Amino acid sequence: MKEYDAIVIGGGPAGSTVGALLAEKGRRVVILEKSKFPRYHVGESLMPFCYFTFERLGIVDKLSGHAYTKKHSVQFVTRDGKMSAPFYFFQHMDHPAATSWQVERSELDLMMLDNARDKGAEVREETQVVDFIYEGERVVGVVAEGKEEGQYEIRASMTVDATGRDSLFQSKRRWRKRDPKLNKIAIWTRYKGAKRDPGLDEGATTVAYLDDRGWFWNIPMHDDIVSSGIVAERDYLYRDTRDPKAIFEREIENNVWIKDHLSCGEQFGEYWVTGEYSYRAEHCADDGIVLVGDAFAFLDPVFSSGVYLALKSGEMAADAIEAAIETGDVSAAQFSDYGERLCGAIETMRNLVYAFYDNEFSFGKLIRKHADLRGTLTDCLIGDLVDKDYGPLMEAIGGITELPDPLPHGRAPIRNVVRK
Ligand SMILES: Cc1cc2nc3c(=O)[nH]c(=O)nc-3n(C[C@H](O)[C@H](O)[C@H](O)COP(=O)(O)OP(=O)(O)OC[C@H]3O[C@@H](n4cnc5c(N)ncnc54)[C@H](O)[C@@H]3O)c2cc1C
Repeated sequence: MKEYDAIVIGGGPAGSTVGALLAEKGRRVVILEKSKFPRYHVGESLMPFCYFTFERLGIVDKLSGHAYTKKHSVQFVTRDGKMSAPFYFFQHMDHPAATSWQVERSELDLMMLDNARDKGAEVREETQVVDFIYEGERVVGVVAEGKEEGQYEIRASMTVDATGRDSLFQSKRRWRKRDPKLNKIAIWTRYKGAKRDPGLDEGATTVAYLDDRGWFWNIPMHDDIVSSGIVAERDYLYRDTRDPKAIFEREIENNVWIKDHLSCGEQFGEYWVTGEYSYRAEHCADDGIVLVGDAFAFLDPVFSSGVYLALKSGEMAADAIEAAIETGDVSAAQFSDYGERLCGAIETMRNLVYAFYDNEFSFGKLIRKHADLRGTLTDCLIGDLVDKDYGPLMEAIGGITELPDPLPHGRAPIRNVVRK
């Protein structure tokens, strides 16, 4: 008899989604979270398709009732400040999901963790998982370290790694594989009182270009806060200093729109920096364990796909775990379908990210050449990624820029192959 059906490591969007959905099914779930919520987290701009996981989790009303800035579109701005026609989600989708949100992640993540708690998951905050327990090849539990309790063991039929970019299982097993090209760094901070666009565009996510295909994000949030960040090559950003504040201030001068919007605001708080930008684990699962969200894969956030992929992978993993526990087989093979579908969705987005970083490519060029594909492109940008065939769109993009080969890794390992 196991103590739990599932141990979920990490209480971010991926972990609390799995935790809530399994608890709702009556499974005994414990979520172990190393920090004390609410805690700061980057990743404020949500794709419209997040809505459907929120709906399944039963938290749409809570989100709608919050003061979160409403996001109706994504817009792209050239270095000299020219804005492309915004991609308005409602022009494409007649559904409440067309209005997305710019969220304060500390608040959203707390709301989601509380939701998992309300559905019956046990949540232990300030509890860090430091190791995995194996029986043979199979993960059967974890070694946790509580603030008060010290180290102790917990066992369960299934373990879920939802540790975000810490990617605990990936790093223990040396499974992390960086994307061959997408390895930028990001520097970001926050402003109060920065300029907002009028009307519908007030809550738009803006992607504003810098030289060498670097870019700024501008995410207007509630309480008059703007999240602003730069993503670019290390050599470009560190060309004359490594001081994040100095780099940030220098780059503001390099985009007219950003300068215009930020100059009337006041910067506050830290300048955060992150490297190791895009990666995927060798496998999405092993016997007794499955990887979700950033603990499995991270993709350059130019299209704000991270939270969506965290939610969707959490949802898909919960369904696969439920089926695995039901059949009494928690081997990695139970997660083949999960890995296949998730990798497919990530590859679609990865193609768009590669195209974005090619100087020869622009969405304007694509749409001028293939006006009929505007809707299909918007489908990708809103996050309709799982189980969708974007062949004609990718073919059209591939006619303008070279698309990457799909990454060969990320699927569940195939065991018990008899080799002659
Ligand atoms: C610069 C940048 C900008 C981004 N912008 C966006 C954006 O605009 N929109 C978007 O959708 N996404 C964005 N993302 C991506 C987004 O932040 C992530 O994809 C998302 O947070 C992933 O959710 P998660 O639940 O997998 O991981 P996380 O949200 O990171 O949650 C993981 C949790 O696990 C806990 N944890 C870690 N290790 C342990 C351990 N050993 N034991 C117990 N607990 C542990 C952590 O404390 C954390 O709470 C951005 C990312 C970066 C780096």
